Order: sequence, then C-alpha cells, then structure tokens
Amino acid sequence: MNNNNPYLDIDQQMVGDIYTSSQVMDNLTVLCDDFGARFSGTPEEQQAAQFIADTFEKYGLQNVGFETYSYAGWSRGEATLEIIEPIHKPIKCISLPYCPTSEIESELVSVGYGSPEDYQRLGSSIKEKIVLASSASSPNLGRWVHRKEKYERTVLAEAKAFIFVSEHPGTGPETGSLQDDKAAPIPGISVSKEDGAFLTRLIERKGMVKLRLLTTDTNLPRNSWNVVGDLIGKEKPNEQIILGCHYDGHDISQGATDPASGMAIVIETARVLSQYAGNNLKRTVRFIAFGTEEIGLIGAYRYVDKHADELDNIRFMFNLDAAGGKSRKGIVLHQWCELESFFQQAKQEMAIEMPIGQKVHPYSDHFPFLIQGVPTGHMGDAEAAPGGRGFGHTMYDTLDKVELVNLRAGSSVAARLSLRMANDPSFCPQRRSTETVQELLDTDSNLEGYRVAQKLANHKNS
Ligand SMILES: [Zn+2]
Repeated sequence: MNNNNPYLDIDQQMVGDIYTSSQVMDNLTVLCDDFGARFSGTPEEQQAAQFIADTFEKYGLQNVGFETYSYAGWSRGEATLEIIEPIHKPIKCISLPYCPTSEIESELVSVGYGSPEDYQRLGSSIKEKIVLASSASSPNLGRWVHRKEKYERTVLAEAKAFIFVSEHPGTGPETGSLQDDKAAPIPGISVSKEDGAFLTRLIERKGMVKLRLLTTDTNLPRNSWNVVGDLIGKEKPNEQIILGCHYDGHDISQGATDPASGMAIVIETARVLSQYAGNNLKRTVRFIAFGTEEIGLIGAYRYVDKHADELDNIRFMFNLDAAGGKSRKGIVLHQWCELESFFQQAKQEMAIEMPIGQKVHPYSDHFPFLIQGVPTGHMGDAEAAPGGRGFGHTMYDTLDKVELVNLRAGSSVAARLSLRMANDPSFCPQRRSTETVQELLDTDSNLEGYRVAQKLANHKNS
C-alpha cells in the first residue's frame, strides 16, 4: 500500500517515536499544571514563554528567541450583577476581557441567539438597555456566530451593557474577550446557562426586569512575547513553512485544550522533525508560540507587522490552535482550492483518515496572515457541524479532558504534513493579491463577524 510513499522511512521514525514517547503529554502537563492559565500579563505567561523557548532549544531548533511587543493589557476586577426589579436577587457573573470599569442600571432585553435577524427585529428597542445573548448559534443560520459579533452588534445598537450566557449546563460562565487589543466601549459580563435561563424566564413571566451592574476591571498597557524557533532548510532556507499556536489561555482555567493541547503538538512536531528530518529539510520550518491570542490575536498581528518583508516567502501557515482536542485531525484550508490535490496526495501516502476541506474563520492566529494573503489553514475537521466550545473558555478546560491519543494523532499529522510541505518541490503556493483578499473578506459568509468589527471601527471613527 505504502510503496508510493517517498517519505516512508522518516514517517515511520517520527510516528513510531510519537507513539512510544510520553513527551507530548509531559510538556502539556508542565504548561497546564505549572503555569496555569498563562493569561496575558501574569508571571505564569512569561514562565510558559521561557519554558517553550528552553524546550525548542533542547529539541535542537535554531535561532530560538523572544519577540517582545506591547499591547493593551487588561486585569480582572470583581463584577456584581443584581436584579433590582421586580425582585431583588444577586446573580453570579464575571467580567469579559477588556470590560471597562462601570456602574449601570437598566432594563434587560434578551436577543436569544443573537443572530443578525434578532438584532434587526429588536431594532431601536435595544437602545440604552442591557442585552442578554446566548453563546449558542441559531440552528437555522448555518454558521457559528462568535461572541464578539454579538457584542459588537449590541454596541452598534447603542445598548448600555452586554450579558453573555453560556450554552453549556454545569460549566459556569463562558469567558472570551469583548474587543481586540483595546478597552471595550461598553461593559460585558458572562453568566452560567442556568442563571441566563432564570433571567429569560423572569422577563417572560414578569415583563420588565431591571438590573444593576458594577464592574471594576483595569485596562493598562503591558508587554508580551512571541517565541520563535527554526529548522533551517538546506536548499531553500528563505522559504518557510510556519507551524503556530498560541500559549496564553483565559484566566479562569488551565486552557488545556484551548490552546495548550495545540501548543504541545507544535512542540512535539519540533522534537520529531528536528530529530529525524532536521538535516533533510529543503525549506525552513518555523515554529511560533504566539502570545496574547485570546484578547485579539495580538501576537500574530505583531508578528506579521515585524516580518512584513518575509511574507512573500511563507509557503504555508498551519495553525494548530487547540489541535489536541476531540476534533478529527484533518486540515481545513482557508479557501485554497488549488492546494487540495497536494493534501489529497499526502493523505494517500500517509495512509490515514484525514478530512480535507475548505472553510475560513477570523478567530485565531492564522487570520493576521490570511489578511496579508499568506496561504493558511488549521488542523481540524471542515465537515464537522458548527458547534459551541464545550469546556473551552470555561473553568473546566482542564488537563484531565485531554487524551494522549489525540495529542499523538495531531502530532503525527502535523509532523508528516510539515515534512511534505517543506520538501515537495511542487508545493509552492503564492500570496494572494490585496484585491483577492479583499474579495474574500467582503463575501465569505463565515467572515461576517470580521465585517461587523470593521463596521464598528468605522462607526467610532466617524
Ligand atoms: Zn485558542
């Protein structure tokens, strides 16, 4: 079956090592149990960056270094929510990153799923109100609607505050930033599914519900770091294949699946590729641990700015954010149909089940590269139905949820694909033109959230 696999020897060495070593789980355990959430602005974030750099060095990567940048930081303060009419009752809540300090009293309005139609239907009745939106997406819409899109529609409707309701029972509030790299214009908090259901029933049964909200968060500038390391190609050292994942998590949990399971796969791929293919790579494979993704893909945006003159030479950016989760280990190309045959061929050679599909989204570190026209994709399953985050972004995204089998499967696919992208002379995708990128940004239905963010940015500037 595998007679047509020109990489059979290296494949067997890499995959055999991955499946007989505990390194990937050991590294994930250090990231989660020693450095906790690794949230932006915490000492654990810096310790995690140092650990990743040390591990890159240990595994033989070259040019290992930190790239420091400044950004708009945020620190959580206490948030209190209280029903003041028609009953008195406190509701447990947490601020969402970039929430400002605020004190607000107003009537509560539910927008349900927070689909574009919900906001259209409710129109100006949202103005000056506190808006309640579920983290779930309408099953009729055919796409997943991100928290930020709901928040930004709420701001555009001139509401006073935003309450995000988890769609998952028993997991407490779901976190996630309100804005990217800047203080949010109105406060946003999150409550559990159960408390959200209570508030919704109260509106339905009593009509008018009035809330008081107090937030005490701080927005101050800070520094963070991308960690970079290379396996330098022997024939075309300037041409790069990038493997990346962010290492920062949200402060309420270990961020074990999102992102650390993907970070562990990046590190594991560095280990086996360095050991078994380090001297045989034609193009350079660059490994990047991005900082501060959770609050606006900031590390990735800074990387793209800093390396603007190298973008033409990036053949592919493969994003492994949360790649060690339960999803099938396929490749989701960001509307690069011309690359499908390369990956189909790789799948044949590798003799594995590897879904290959096309779908794009603007909510992880590939996006700053995509905007610049760089060919991008992420590990995942394009055929999976759009769904929620499960334990992701809740306090229960913990190490015990991650399975070694998924880390191994993800590492094997990432290592074998990287080897092929680095060495196959036929793999040489080129950057999209500015016009082609703009057309994608303007028309792809899964980029609606990006367009709403642009609308809000333009609204504020005018
Ligand atoms: Zn992530």
